[in-house]
Amino acid sequence: MTQVNYNLLGVLPNDDILSQCIHCGMCLATCPTYELTKLERSSPRGRIKMIKSIARGEIPISEIFADEMNFCLDCQACETACPAGVKYGSMVEAARVEVDNSEYGSFFKKKIKKFTLKYILASKRNLKIVSRLLYYYQKSFLPKIVNKLCEFKIFPQRIIVLESLSPKVSKKFSDSAILEITEPENEIKYTTAFHYGCLMNVMFADINRDTVELLSKTGCKVITPKDQQCCGSLHAHNGDFETAKKLAMENLTVFRKHNYDYLISNSAGCGAFMKEYYHLFKDEPELKEAAKSFSERIKDLSEFYSDILPFEFKTNNEIITYHDACHLVHSQKIYSQPRKILRAISGLNYKEMDESIWCCGSAGIYNIVRYEDSMKILERKMENIKKSGAEKVITSNPGCMAQIEYGCRKNNLNITVEHLATFLNRSES
Ligand code: SF4
Ligand code: SF4
Repeated sequence: MTQVNYNLLGVLPNDDILSQCIHCGMCLATCPTYELTKLERSSPRGRIKMIKSIARGEIPISEIFADEMNFCLDCQACETACPAGVKYGSMVEAARVEVDNSEYGSFFKKKIKKFTLKYILASKRNLKIVSRLLYYYQKSFLPKIVNKLCEFKIFPQRIIVLESLSPKVSKKFSDSAILEITEPENEIKYTTAFHYGCLMNVMFADINRDTVELLSKTGCKVITPKDQQCCGSLHAHNGDFETAKKLAMENLTVFRKHNYDYLISNSAGCGAFMKEYYHLFKDEPELKEAAKSFSERIKDLSEFYSDILPFEFKTNNEIITYHDACHLVHSQKIYSQPRKILRAISGLNYKEMDESIWCCGSAGIYNIVRYEDSMKILERKMENIKKSGAEKVITSNPGCMAQIEYGCRKNNLNITVEHLATFLNRSES
């Protein structure tokens, strides 16, 4: 698994680290933004060169630099391709901090981003209040009126897009729908802990319920602490390392109170970041061991059912394909595990998708803040989905799910998208 240098915590890497790039260009063909522009500056190699020049003080931060740092999806496909082991992700994340502290980039967008990360996503209470309001809005007649006002150009068109991309808020949030202790249905095989996330808690409660139900049906006791927190990944990826560390610390404290064999994650981004908690605290003696033990026991759902608890799932004769979430395949290096599970399901017609590891363009909030670029990237994904001939796309990340569902609606495709947890829970025999 990729080990990010969290010692840097938002500070541009030193010359030694930046010089690990040997300019071979092996990453270029895997980079979605380079593929869009064919400009060197939109490639990992070009961006590293710019970051290096800025870190050395050879050039100042510029509009172009700011734009390139935010144009990058942080998908980390370049890390998978890199023969020199360059940790590009931590470089671009540190560079974004520099951009946020500079005069470049939209002042308004920067303020909104900071506020959302610090006061909404990092606060379970505030996130639940905002989500509840959004739930009532989504259920009301208001969206129809807003859409009409957008059609007549009284409100900006972007609002329609934002609404179509936003997943529906769950009626009952995960933390009230899932018991703190769920006993296994049969003989106990493992005691697991479950992290239900922040947005997953309020917007994908059905997937969280499917995950717990699946674990329980397959012989796992599931501990779902009510006082757990957001993992902090969105904060770290967007340069708010202080909040990311605070949230990580709270999670360490909460999960330490319980005895469990594995901590199951059903969200690629959360799992990837929680596996990095150890590196986050490796210079803090009092937390280092707790963080190590925590990180070592994180398992993505697909890892768990492939490597720890193989299970015989059954289904009807569906034609499915699989989309690899970037934070699963590039950050956690999980590629074969979901395929092993899916290919072993009797009655299933599994079709491998071309470029399954190519980003779908969701990338956290990228599809909202860089909608046009995100849609170009999504179109390539949709072409590959169509070519696969599948009637259903399985994936392991809620962001990818919402983005691909949007792509299906936009292209009028009769293809459904399902999270692996839901698919396995329904397939379980
Ligand atoms: S993280 Fe993704 S978009 Fe950014 S440079 Fe690497 S491959 Fe390109
Ligand atoms: S593959 Fe690695 S070493 Fe080669 S150009 Fe890309 S980042 Fe640099």
